[in-house]
Amino acid sequence: MTSRSKINSFSQNNKFFQNKLDIAWLHLTNKCNLNCSWCYVYNKIGHKTAVDISQPLYNLSLQLLKDLHIKELVFIGGEPTLHPNFPQFIYAAKQKGFKSYVVTNGVKLSNLDYLKSLMESGLDFINMSFVAHKAATYNKITRTNNFFDKAVQAVKNMAHLNIPFSLNIIIDQKDKKGCFSSTVSAGTTQLILETKRTNTVHRHRAVAGYQKDKNKYVELLSFVSELGAKEVNLISCEPPSTHSTIDTYNQTKNSLWNNQNKKQVNSALPDPQETAAIMEALYLWNRKNPKLDIHYQAAIPACLFRRDILKDIIEKEKYHPNYIAHLGSGFVINPHGDIHPSSHFVNVKLFNIIKKKRNLTLLTKDEFLKKWNSGKTLNFRKALWRYPSKYCENCPYWEKYCVGGNPFLSFVYDLPRFIQKGYTKNIIKAEIR
Ligand code: SF4
Repeated sequence: MTSRSKINSFSQNNKFFQNKLDIAWLHLTNKCNLNCSWCYVYNKIGHKTAVDISQPLYNLSLQLLKDLHIKELVFIGGEPTLHPNFPQFIYAAKQKGFKSYVVTNGVKLSNLDYLKSLMESGLDFINMSFVAHKAATYNKITRTNNFFDKAVQAVKNMAHLNIPFSLNIIIDQKDKKGCFSSTVSAGTTQLILETKRTNTVHRHRAVAGYQKDKNKYVELLSFVSELGAKEVNLISCEPPSTHSTIDTYNQTKNSLWNNQNKKQVNSALPDPQETAAIMEALYLWNRKNPKLDIHYQAAIPACLFRRDILKDIIEKEKYHPNYIAHLGSGFVINPHGDIHPSSHFVNVKLFNIIKKKRNLTLLTKDEFLKKWNSGKTLNFRKALWRYPSKYCENCPYWEKYCVGGNPFLSFVYDLPRFIQKGYTKNIIKAEIR
């Protein structure tokens, strides 16, 4: 069997095509109190007016999610705390037995009473984006003037109330306006980790650059630690899909890969080896400074990590590759009732759950599953689920810990070349327990 036919046969038979759904993101609103320059909720999708999910659509969506046996909800936006019904939404989710999380810029959490009201409504966890540790940088990134202190206060408030929370830190380029986050609330998730950009895939040169800047990273992490943060989530920067009508992976590729987007993406996106090197540098710092619990949400080829480090963070359950879209284990519902394959693919509309607009009626569970497991939704997943490199075929990390990184990376970088280097250097002798 040739390599290509092996890949095709693998793709067709993969057990994950029938994977169980277990998570849903509810995109509650396009509104945001910040105005981050890179935020595609406004800039890329082209929303002229803000849209909130309606209470009836939310209520019916909850019932549909319950019928689908989904366990976890993640509230996203825009900025989800700007939805006027947000506390009621949390309460309704709790009543139905969901675990709920929010991804937020934290501005509204500077109000202690509001924060308490969210927790009393039943919110289980907060993922707050911390854009920068200096007011001037924060203002520049968010194109606002008065919110840095609120972000700081929000962290203090959560620590004071002993609320379970994590700060999202996205790895991107220095002096850029920001990378494209992997979530719909991209404009809310950024902490600039100043990095040296190189075009090399040679680890040691990259690491040398980062270690030179190590004090800057330490400064950032120390700052959030002193505010009371206990957990930090390092997230690899990923290019977005930028077209609203794309159906397939290839169309996604075409829509992303035009000159304007290429320029934007390249200007902010560290190459995958750089991302791994930054995370490694912070891992090594963290070993000597264990006050912060650092997690690694790295949608990059896992082989780019030094294998002892990768092994350790996997064993400690701190390695979180993002490939829910590949697995088909979750989806996003937006305020219009559109379904997206995951928060990575925010502009890929798969189908709509509204069956009748008058007397609002949604798809039944069976109707939903039929659409989810057939047609263009299934084709989309199949298109994603392929070996990005022949090296992945023999890799012990494949499927369990890695599917080759975010596929959009391959539109910007020569991903197979990175994987070959990483595999031969770091994985070939690896032992997975
Ligand atoms: S060889 Fe492929 S599957 Fe293995 S770690 Fe690298 S990218 Fe992931």
